[in-house]
Amino acid sequence: MAYDSDNIFAKILRGEIPCTKVYEDEHALAFEDINPQAPIHVLVIPKGAYVSMDDFAAEASDAEITGFFRAVGTVARELGVAAPGYRMLANHGVNGGQEVPHFHVHIFGGKKLGPMLKRD
Ligand code: AMP
Repeated sequence: MAYDSDNIFAKILRGEIPCTKVYEDEHALAFEDINPQAPIHVLVIPKGAYVSMDDFAAEASDAEITGFFRAVGTVARELGVAAPGYRMLANHGVNGGQEVPHFHVHIFGGKKLGPMLKRD
């Protein structure tokens, strides 16, 4: 799947639409999810143009991958969720329910999050 540079997170990265930023460095931007599913719900995205976890893992440089996942850890620590605990989640593709085609990691926290997956 080709990267769509009109996706909403690409627009956020270019500053064309606003976000509530919580962290930014060379490799990553973190901002509050617009429709939070937990008391703390933050998205962390790489600055590079990667569609999904699969694309990022296959195509990103070692520096981008290292920088991105270090940023996820930093964001969680700065949000105060590292000690009480949190959930990190990345939806990939149709079965994963991915809505925005720019790789992103969700950080959920601020309460006990319950079972890992919704039971049908
Ligand atoms: P996913 O289903 O993993 O692709 O998740 C996409 C997430 O992006 C959802 O949790 C949305 O609430 C969130 N989202 C969509 N548009 C925005 C936006 N403009 N600012 C912040 N979060 C957004």
